[in-house]
Amino acid sequence: NLHRSPMYGECKLISGVGVRYCPSIEDKIVKFPEKERHHVFVEPEGRNTIEFYPNGTSTSLPFDVQEKIIHSIPGLENAKIIRPAYAIEYDFVDPTHLYPTLETKIIQGLFNAGQINGTTGYEEAAGQGIVAGINAALYSLGKDERFILGRDEAYIGVMIDDLVNRGVREPYRLFTSRAEYRLLLRYDNADYRLAKYGYRFGLLTREQYERVKRKYETVKVFIEKLREVKVKPEIINPVLEKANSTPLRESKTVYEILKRPEVKLQEMLRVIPFELDIEDRKLLEEILEEVEIEVKYEGYIKRQLEEVKRFRKLENVKIPPDFDYDIVPISTEEKQKLKEMKPLTLGQAARLEGIRPASIPILAIYIEKWKKGELKRES
Ligand SMILES: Cc1cc2nc3c(=O)[nH]c(=O)nc-3n(C[C@H](O)[C@H](O)[C@H](O)COP(=O)(O)OP(=O)(O)OC[C@H]3O[C@@H](n4cnc5c(N)ncnc54)[C@H](O)[C@@H]3O)c2cc1C
Repeated sequence: NLHRSPMYGECKLISGVGVRYCPSIEDKIVKFPEKERHHVFVEPEGRNTIEFYPNGTSTSLPFDVQEKIIHSIPGLENAKIIRPAYAIEYDFVDPTHLYPTLETKIIQGLFNAGQINGTTGYEEAAGQGIVAGINAALYSLGKDERFILGRDEAYIGVMIDDLVNRGVREPYRLFTSRAEYRLLLRYDNADYRLAKYGYRFGLLTREQYERVKRKYETVKVFIEKLREVKVKPEIINPVLEKANSTPLRESKTVYEILKRPEVKLQEMLRVIPFELDIEDRKLLEEILEEVEIEVKYEGYIKRQLEEVKRFRKLENVKIPPDFDYDIVPISTEEKQKLKEMKPLTLGQAARLEGIRPASIPILAIYIEKWKKGELKRES
């Protein structure tokens, strides 16, 4: 029945590039002809319903073919299709026409979010929605401030940076593998990374924000304590033996012992009493988790923070909106690209396709001189 599919049929009605990660049945047959099986997850739609979602049967094939497919699945011979599968094709705005605030470069005050920017997915849409929404609000309130998350601060930052600098050739999905600083973008420290913005833009109360600050201050103090407190072998060895960890022959700091992957902080605290003035049990658990992660991965985290420092050096150099690229001794192609893409920072300029690494220090010098008023527009 492939000939009856609007994607692959004689009458090709759909020409758009499909979502790589949610192939339809016909996609699977065409792209993976050697496969002999196909997974279908029959998911209940709710507790009190007889409807099921046959995840994996996404298709553009006509209804009668869909019925045959479903009825060929053992157990579903008599199933009724309540809502048929369908394929959609949609237009999108080239995301390189957007600033990292998600405001369009062409129409001032127009902010885009979601699959209109060439993405697909719930989280992708929601992640852009909050950024575009906050920026649209700031714009409407006449404020100069804008909300931009860096690649080192949030996956949302990675996604928007990818979209506006690289554009899309197929529906974009956000993967952890797209983030170069993913050791820092952990679920456990999301509050550390983002609470300051939440508070600044009125999404968190002062009390909620203070709680986050207190949490990380305590983590810091606690880690310092772990570096100081030494523990004797006879105290800690039973814990180490239980964790299949080499027993101590002489005293060591709790910090050193905690670095061992197999040793858990909670277990050690059973034999080493620490005074932590935290009544909120949940907060205490969060603190202990954070301490454990920071101590165990300290070396890797430090290395990544060094990389972030280098990244921030360029990211913090703002390019004035009226900066004249024509005065910079770089190639004409590079000038064209920079004029077209209007990067907000030197870091963003460095990530554009076609901008050579050697041009970045030159740009840095000219931007600096421009800001000091030492240079003039060429024309
Ligand atoms: C069948 C199917 C299954 C999917 N499964 C998944 C999945 O499992 N996981 C996943 O992450 N993603 C999935 N997706 C993708 C995901 O649903 C979309 O990418 C995401 O919902 C897009 O959100 P959005 O807010 O950008 O757009 P939409 O959710 O499409 O929102 C746009 C809204 O604008 C409204 N609108 C349009 N024109 C106008 C107008 N002129 N005036 C006012 N309102 C207007 C529309 O009615 C709509 O409500 C699936 C998509 C489909 C079609």
